[in-house]
Amino acid sequence: MINKLTIVNGIIQDNNILGIPFKRDIVVPKGKSNVYTRISMVPIGFAVHNTSNPAPTATDEAHARWLQSVEDADKQYVSVHFFVDDDSITQTIPINMVTYNAGDGNGPGNFKHVSVEICENGNILKAEENAKKLIASLQYTMSQLKVIRTHQSFSGKYCPHVLLSRKNGWSNFVSDIGNILNPLNPVINIINKVVSKPLVNTNATSVVIATNIWGYRTATDAIADKNRVKLVPKGSYPVMIKHITGAWNIGKGYLFWINPKFITTVPVANTVSISKNIYGYRTATDALRDINRVKLIPKGTYPIMIKHSSGAWNIGKGNLYWMDPKDL
Ligand SMILES: [Zn+2]
Repeated sequence: MINKLTIVNGIIQDNNILGIPFKRDIVVPKGKSNVYTRISMVPIGFAVHNTSNPAPTATDEAHARWLQSVEDADKQYVSVHFFVDDDSITQTIPINMVTYNAGDGNGPGNFKHVSVEICENGNILKAEENAKKLIASLQYTMSQLKVIRTHQSFSGKYCPHVLLSRKNGWSNFVSDIGNILNPLNPVINIINKVVSKPLVNTNATSVVIATNIWGYRTATDAIADKNRVKLVPKGSYPVMIKHITGAWNIGKGYLFWINPKFITTVPVANTVSISKNIYGYRTATDALRDINRVKLIPKGTYPIMIKHSSGAWNIGKGNLYWMDPKDL
């Protein structure tokens, strides 16, 4: 379960991020401001890199020591906030301070983004998983960290080369971070793929939602799938308003806008209220003849799934039985 991190003066205080050991080896400033820049920054996102050093010794800890040696040598302008490998993460510069890594001088890459180097010394897939968890945890803690970008997007360098050279490597990296933040995303994405057009009866006055879907404050948000407010539990809801955008506003204590594309079952146009317990039957014919009673249907409101030509009705909501409307 994702947690908010404790960050003091730009330095993460936690010793563990989603199971990954977290270390601090903050560069000790020396001479020019070329690694420990002393330039304050209000970050808006992340710049992601690969170290391009496959040596088995090129761990996150080793890179932190290297960065200190660069500061001590006082020649090169280069710095990074985090190094991540397959078994730990090390922070080297406070995240409220500019680092030099994106190749864009005092452009937005260096001056507005938290830099994350994924190490190539060991299990690169595990190192990438660890980087995703670091970025998701920081996004969860600091909502202003909205964008996740490649080094390449700032200055053209082919970096992070491992992710860029893998088919869908970068897009999967970014969507996996979204899935850590919101474990229901994969379900929503599957629904979006399967339901290419609304499976809805536009005359419906009520709607049956078979799996929990997101509710939004406005019709526009619902259509754009942004600013999700809360999950609307599966169930049957009256449709209060059908907005011109295509969004629906549904009632029953959930006065939220929903996107009907996310609904996985065909809504029913009619419901029936049963005021006393009546018998349910396996077939339409049995219902009309009152033979082979199966069980009592408790009083309540049910969607009518099928109106049979014989006159019997089939009702839903977990009671897929036939009934005789004359018994109501
Ligand atoms: Zn890079």
